[in-house]
Amino acid sequence: MNTAYTREHSGRFAAIPRGFRSDSGKGLLDGQAKTHDEPKWKSSPEKRLLCATCGHYITSRDRSREMSGNHVHVFTNPAGFTFRIGCFSSAPGCITAGEPTGDYTWFPGYDWSFALCGGCMAHLGWLYESGSDSFYGLILAELAEEYLQ
Ligand SMILES: [Zn+2]
Repeated sequence: MNTAYTREHSGRFAAIPRGFRSDSGKGLLDGQAKTHDEPKWKSSPEKRLLCATCGHYITSRDRSREMSGNHVHVFTNPAGFTFRIGCFSSAPGCITAGEPTGDYTWFPGYDWSFALCGGCMAHLGWLYESGSDSFYGLILAELAEEYLQ
């Protein structure tokens, strides 16, 4: 038995080639999942996320981060609208608008301003800033995954 050959052979086939993952990602961003932890969210860190309105590149999954242990948070604003947002360390495709304010902030210690799509100005979420930290909370329903063939 040639064990060295067997080990090398099986090792090569253990790798999952890009584009052959079984999860399609469909429905991931449209609010179907009910809980905060979503392992699928982290399965393709290189995937780009686009503005659902115009297709402008906004951010990517490898920029996702957690706040208080969760990437996804669900909040309701004072007007009664509920948002399901994901936290991202940066969002190169966003522009920000408005003066940062701590009013009604969903993340204590962080001031927010509006995050808009740099392509079509759609409201995608909020930039949160504290003294030494900042992140984007982006409305998942406003983002679309880029499907690579
Ligand atoms: Zn857009």
